[in-house]
Amino acid sequence: MPSASSASDRSAAAIPGSGSTGPGVLRRYREHLPITDATPMLYIGEGATPLVRSQRLEKEAGCEALYFKLESCNPTGSFKDRGMVMAVAKAIEEGDRAIMCASTGNTSASAAAFAAHCGLQVYVLVPKGRIAQGKLAQAVAHGARVIAIDGNFDAALRLALTITDIHPIALVNSVNPYRIEGQKTAAFEIVDALGDAPDYLFIPVGNAGNITSYWRGFTEYQRLGKAQKRPRVMGFQAAGAAPIVLGHPVEEPQTIATAIRIGNPASWQGAVNARDESGGDIQAVSDDEIMSAYYRLAREEGIFCEPASAACVAGLLKVTREGLSLAGQTVVCVITGSGLKDPETAMKAKADLIELPADLAAIEKALGFA
Ligand SMILES: *Cc1c(COP(=O)(O)O)cnc(C)c1O
Repeated sequence: MPSASSASDRSAAAIPGSGSTGPGVLRRYREHLPITDATPMLYIGEGATPLVRSQRLEKEAGCEALYFKLESCNPTGSFKDRGMVMAVAKAIEEGDRAIMCASTGNTSASAAAFAAHCGLQVYVLVPKGRIAQGKLAQAVAHGARVIAIDGNFDAALRLALTITDIHPIALVNSVNPYRIEGQKTAAFEIVDALGDAPDYLFIPVGNAGNITSYWRGFTEYQRLGKAQKRPRVMGFQAAGAAPIVLGHPVEEPQTIATAIRIGNPASWQGAVNARDESGGDIQAVSDDEIMSAYYRLAREEGIFCEPASAACVAGLLKVTREGLSLAGQTVVCVITGSGLKDPETAMKAKADLIELPADLAAIEKALGFA
């Protein structure tokens, strides 16, 4: 009898985008995912992201060990690829030829890349003027039909829900349950790398799909005996977009961290469950705290992430400053996306850029060597 994986590789052979080789989260975590013999085993390089030990902030936070899970190393530069590979594979399996998402940017970049890989049509609804340039560039380069609407993310998501309800298009936002399934593989990777779950997980919260996914992943691994414990989950929203902290939706969410500028999270309940079942917390951090953590990661750790990702590190520095002791604890911060997505934000520190003629003496003087 052929093995399950060779049978599926054969049945998937006729499906666009199934010619890929390599590991990928679908192959590696097949038995934990909703994969059948008809699911194409897509792979564009997602998963197996690095877990990097902190060089400086670990000491300041006072923990035993601090790691950064670099989800920015996924092929489109954010964790969205983990959920998207599962959602697109299931859309193809179910016969869909087109996909749609509402996006603050990274979901559309990921959807556009997988659609290109698989030869699917992709439609993207984004809030006009509120998308980081790098993300829009990705969607455009991959050939997505991008529509910028006069409204925020929450309005875009409502429209996408309606359109995909009345037209034969698969919705690949995180309300698509396959997204959450794919994203939980990041928790598996952390346990596989550390040998157990960490004591704490710090994670930014926007639409709350990712915090929901991690909690599911840790929970499933513990149930299977692959982890002895589950982490306390510490979620962080931006202060101007903190509906879960406030306990009510935010009509006009505001924050520099566009990836978490969301006023009415689709996976609200999942985030609350992760918080309550883990004995963790969900708090807000200000844009100033986010930008401080953003530059500290870049300058003290060598990690260039986007502002939304820095929210969880801002949260770590804040709660420890306010008295939470992490002595003896292993902590993982999820670096959700790459700083290259949003160069305009990085360049706000342009004060550090010196322009000079191509002259040795002038350069030596400016560098303090003369
Ligand atoms: C999508 C995203 C988030 C927020 O994740 P949710 O699942 O919406 O909570 C955070 N950071 C980055 C970089 C993202 O792309």
